[in-house]
Amino acid sequence: MDIHKIIIPTPYPIGDVNAFLVKGDKLSLFDVGPKTEEALNALHKGVQEAGYKLEDIEQVVLTHHHPDHAGWVDAFPKAEIIGHEYNDHFLRRTPEFMAYRTNFYREQLQLQAVPEKYLEKIVESKDALKLYGNTPLTRYIEDGEEVPGHPGLKAIYTPGHAQSHLIFIEESTNEVIGGDLLLDKVAANPLVEPPTDLSSTRPKALIQQQESLMHLRELNVSKVYTGHGEEIVEVNELIHQRLEKDQMRLKQLLKQFDRPKTVLELTMGLYQAHYKTELGLTLSKTLGYLDCLVRDGLVEEKIVDGVLVFERN
Ligand SMILES: [Zn+2]
Repeated sequence: MDIHKIIIPTPYPIGDVNAFLVKGDKLSLFDVGPKTEEALNALHKGVQEAGYKLEDIEQVVLTHHHPDHAGWVDAFPKAEIIGHEYNDHFLRRTPEFMAYRTNFYREQLQLQAVPEKYLEKIVESKDALKLYGNTPLTRYIEDGEEVPGHPGLKAIYTPGHAQSHLIFIEESTNEVIGGDLLLDKVAANPLVEPPTDLSSTRPKALIQQQESLMHLRELNVSKVYTGHGEEIVEVNELIHQRLEKDQMRLKQLLKQFDRPKTVLELTMGLYQAHYKTELGLTLSKTLGYLDCLVRDGLVEEKIVDGVLVFERN
């Protein structure tokens, strides 16, 4: 793959994000950084280092809709903007979708026994929304499809961290542009997001993430160009470590069950040091592990007075 990495600063705790300029029959940029001045400067500089100008880019391809990856879609007015259909909800942000999204989270937080007063903080993260672009997709791409202008470079749907998440595999070299599916230093969070069908059913993000990682493992890829950090070459070894770590956390969570508990109670027990400052994130993780325990038949979930209660089998 003729690929050039561009490292872009972000204001988020994760740090820098990577974009990749790929030259095929078309010149395509995979991910575009958050919508900040610093990020735009980095994009300009990186594209120039590869011998091009921003106007030369013919396609922007998104790995997923999160603002650190999809912010600067606005900087390419003449380019095709390509990604999973779900991205569009966050690029268009229609009043209908935003209302649906708020309601979805309100329902979820009620089920998790989280007081209403935390809703806004968790749902809105208004600063984060500001760093999104406003240019909708011009073309959808789905699982199994080739990226236009790049014969042999195929999209694979890999939900978990985001419901829009795609990776792109180059079939001749078995290299992958991996978004946030597998990162070198950290496990990407299984964020709770509204489902792609916009129903009220919460996707089981950690189970999805594990299945996506197992799918990646089966592909026996040679290299992953990651959304953050360094490229990964010992891919299957790292996938093994990530899945093992989940198993360890499941065991820790099981120890919390001295009685039936709510998601909030379990989150407070599992993340004593962090739940206050990162409530949304830690709730997502706890829920992810709970979904696994329910899947494995170790824990049972019930709804009691409108709140989810988990109990050891
Ligand atoms: Zn990211």
